[in-house]
Amino acid sequence: MKRPVHPLLARPLRRLGLDRGGASADPARLRALVDAVGRRYARFEAAVDAERQSHRIAATGLAHANAALRAERRTLESHVHERTAQLEQSRVDLLEAQLLAGLGSWSYREGDRGIEVSAQLAQLLGMDPDAPPASIEELLDYVVEDDRAGAQRSVEAALREPRRLTGELRLRDARGEVRWFASTIASQADEDGRVTRLRGAMLDVTARRLAESRVQRLAYHDDLTGLPNRAAFMEHIGESIAQARARSSRFALLFLDLDGFKEINDSLGHDAGDDLLRQVSQRIRACLRQADRLARFGGDEFLVLIDPVRKRRDVEVVTRKILKAVATPLKLDGLMATVSASIGIAMFPDDGGDPPRLLKNADAAMYQAKQGGRNALRFYAPQINASLREKVAMINDLRAAVARSALDVAYQPIVDGETGRVLGLEALARWDHPERGPITPAVFVPLAEETGLIGAIGTSVLARACAQLVAWDATRAPPPGTGGRPYLSVNVSPVQLREETFVRELRALLAATRLPASRLQLELTEGTVMDEPERAARVLGELSRMGIRIALDDFGTGHSSLAYLRTFPIGCIKIDRAFVVDLGREGPGVRQAAIVPAIVAIARSLGAGVVAEGVETGAQREALVAMGCREMQGYLFSRPLTADECGERFLGAETPAAAG
Ligand code: C2E
Ligand code: CA
Ligand code: CA
Repeated sequence: MKRPVHPLLARPLRRLGLDRGGASADPARLRALVDAVGRRYARFEAAVDAERQSHRIAATGLAHANAALRAERRTLESHVHERTAQLEQSRVDLLEAQLLAGLGSWSYREGDRGIEVSAQLAQLLGMDPDAPPASIEELLDYVVEDDRAGAQRSVEAALREPRRLTGELRLRDARGEVRWFASTIASQADEDGRVTRLRGAMLDVTARRLAESRVQRLAYHDDLTGLPNRAAFMEHIGESIAQARARSSRFALLFLDLDGFKEINDSLGHDAGDDLLRQVSQRIRACLRQADRLARFGGDEFLVLIDPVRKRRDVEVVTRKILKAVATPLKLDGLMATVSASIGIAMFPDDGGDPPRLLKNADAAMYQAKQGGRNALRFYAPQINASLREKVAMINDLRAAVARSALDVAYQPIVDGETGRVLGLEALARWDHPERGPITPAVFVPLAEETGLIGAIGTSVLARACAQLVAWDATRAPPPGTGGRPYLSVNVSPVQLREETFVRELRALLAATRLPASRLQLELTEGTVMDEPERAARVLGELSRMGIRIALDDFGTGHSSLAYLRTFPIGCIKIDRAFVVDLGREGPGVRQAAIVPAIVAIARSLGAGVVAEGVETGAQREALVAMGCREMQGYLFSRPLTADECGERFLGAETPAAAG
């Protein structure tokens, strides 16, 4: 078998003739041939080496390139990793933010079997994360009944054509709690305009809604009774006016003020007062129709709108019902208490065409009802306004006068009717009005009592009179043979006596003026002590222990229980002028005349002195002396005088020290 020849050897072998098998060869040629082959081989080897070398270079290059590629890839990979992590983080952040913001979402695609609900929405509504609502219908089941139809309509509208709808609605979460959501639904359509996709975003706005409603409540409701307040009610009146105009109908505005609320509040405390207001508001409400409106106007004032109204008579019926309901005794803190109401009524359009006017007139009518004896109703009548305006002006003037200390004190002597000797001086408040002239305390004291000004007036009269008496003591010598110095008698209003600070202030005043308490007498009416006998007994006891004398003023005009009178430290009884007027006259005065000896007898039995007021004639004086009443006061002896006149006429000559 012939072995194949390597191509590289083929040519030299041929040249040597060896290719055809054994031939005789010339050694020289053979040598040359071998050399040639050797050279050839060397060349070949060099070529191979070069080749190899270049291959090696390429391989290193490749390896380098490879390494670079790998490095590149690693950086890329780490970039991708980083970005992915970042993305993941921002996705988590977004979800968290959505959750924090209370933002949930859902989506629906045509062809899908159901809807997809975001984890946030599931969490917001406390849904089972493994069993979220499967369809729009199931999601709608979470919407509270009242809002469901509206939500349904929005979904349908969004399914009809591409649009974006927003609104707020309430959903009930899995725990049954109602939450408010601002909902957005957006729909997308394909080229044919068919809606293929719905997306919904739901933002939980419960907190905002709650805050809003709280603000609304604060602004428009009275916290205590839960009723609308003044601001809300003014709007209600406006609405009623607009409606009544449109329908040519009428309505009534009631202004209700409780009688005796302050007393209960003062004596039983604020909690009882609050309770009373709540109970009263419920009772009033119970007297009204559904459509009628009730509001608390402030303090113990309520407003009622009876709308519509056909006849005045109808309003009167409702109002009487309210009066009765309010005046029924109620339980407060375990005690039974009774209040009543005074109600003023203004009708639209007869008594005013705008809320402020109607309110003002209802208020004026209420005031009249109160004046007329409480627990009463009064329809507005135009003349009310004039007298009320005058009264308000007077109160303002009085307030200004008190502030300027413009009130004065007059002094009327109380004398021994037999000898004419001055025993005491009654201090009487005086107000000289800049335009109206002198105004009697019979007019302004009740105004002052009503407005609380009496406290300041009473204090000022007491202080001035005490200081005046001390000044007279120091500057005037009593006329010879007149005995001691006169006492000072000062009127005290029931309102003053009720002030907790009264006794304390009085003590301070006596200390400051150094007037001995025994020189002071306080005049109180029967009503003052009989209204609250226990309290009066306590205060009067304190006063008499200080050494102050108590006189019962206007005696015989009020209702006194003799049994009670015995428990009070009464030092003096002042017989009212009404019983003195007819004394010493013949005929019709006889019956009255019998009263004076009776009062004198009562005074004796109480161990008290007795003074007759309003003695104008000598006949009265004689009759009184005959009946055993020597102390008197009246025009017969002197009218009330200014301090200077009084000092001049009744308190003796000025001492040299004072004159000098
Ligand atoms: P009152 O305490 O009964 O005072 C006596 C009143 O009768 C005084 O009227 C006096 O001027 C008047 N008067 C005195 N003598 C006669 C007389 O012979 N005939 C007639 N017709 N009247 C006589 P005034 O000063 O107008 O006081 C009226 C009432 O005002 C007083 O009645 C008293 O209740 C009250 N008042 C006066 N000053 C004060 C005060 O400072 N504080 C308090 N709380 N009430 C006062
Ligand atoms: Ca008096
Ligand atoms: Ca009197």
